[in-house]
Amino acid sequence: MKHKCPICKAETDSALHADFPFCSQRCRMRDLGNWATEKYVVSDPIFDEEDAAEGGQKTILLDLDKTDDNES
Ligand SMILES: [Zn+2]
Repeated sequence: MKHKCPICKAETDSALHADFPFCSQRCRMRDLGNWATEKYVVSDPIFDEEDAAEGGQKTILLDLDKTDDNES
């Protein structure tokens, strides 16, 4: 069974390559590395500042007390 190495696109043969579908162990490790890197990025916790500040949220009251000229 023939296939193309997903890393370097070289033609690989399941009967000849122990690392099929990769052409070599190096390409196989590189693929694993790609997945590991991606996984790391995805699972990286995102610190949301807004979520952290939600507990101590301050209510800002806008003082719109306009000075009316009570000239009556
Ligand atoms: Zn390869």
